[in-house]
Amino acid sequence: MADNNIITVTGMVISTMPVGETDRRIVLLTKERGKITAFAKGAKKPNSPLSASCQPFVFGEFEVYEGRTSYNIRNVNVKNYFRELVTDFYGAYYGFYFLELADYYGREGIDESVLITLLYQTFRALLNENIPNELIKVIYELKIMTINGEYPEMTVCTECGTDTDIAYYSDNNNGVCCKICGSRRGDCFTICDSTIYAMQYIIFSPIGKLYNFNVKREVLYEMRMIVNRFRSKYIDKKLKSLEILESLSNEKLG
Ligand SMILES: [Zn+2]
Repeated sequence: MADNNIITVTGMVISTMPVGETDRRIVLLTKERGKITAFAKGAKKPNSPLSASCQPFVFGEFEVYEGRTSYNIRNVNVKNYFRELVTDFYGAYYGFYFLELADYYGREGIDESVLITLLYQTFRALLNENIPNELIKVIYELKIMTINGEYPEMTVCTECGTDTDIAYYSDNNNGVCCKICGSRRGDCFTICDSTIYAMQYIIFSPIGKLYNFNVKREVLYEMRMIVNRFRSKYIDKKLKSLEILESLSNEKLG
């Protein structure tokens, strides 16, 4: 007998929480229903088929029963576990932060495939040793903010509108300034051309082409500074995983 309340959604596990002795509450980012919460009965038992598939970073097809007030996971067809990520201590923390940011932006009832694709490509990049994790973080943060429509203006001067001789970033204007306007303002700092190009590239390029470049140390430093300032202005929520990540990187660096 067909059950109309059973639907299949495609997406990713972004967080899990234990419920009682044996169950888990899962937050899924899906193409069909957006961000949803579902219960995985028995998922805390090690021999349950749901115990491995209801974990953060799992990407696949989730068969869920839609009850009156909640979803219940019945079966998972796992496409990718990103297992290597879980065993990489630092990589996993970057991954948890990326999931928390996706959770912040994820909405119920809308097609979240763009966000899912971004996460998928970002996890693949984390597994690629040729791209530094800090660069991946900046790219991901800038792109997720761009997708949500709030991002620094990197193309034209935020004071006079010209696109030539861009040389400064203005903190108050949240965007670049030309040589003339930037030198008049007190809140500007100079940035190099490569920083401007790299950030324009991230804003405008398709997700599939985001992680195919590297930058010099100075450029990464400037990108980080701009993206950090912008993010802390626009994201009012305290991101726990970001605090952990920052304390870990300080430990690692110093
Ligand atoms: Zn100007």
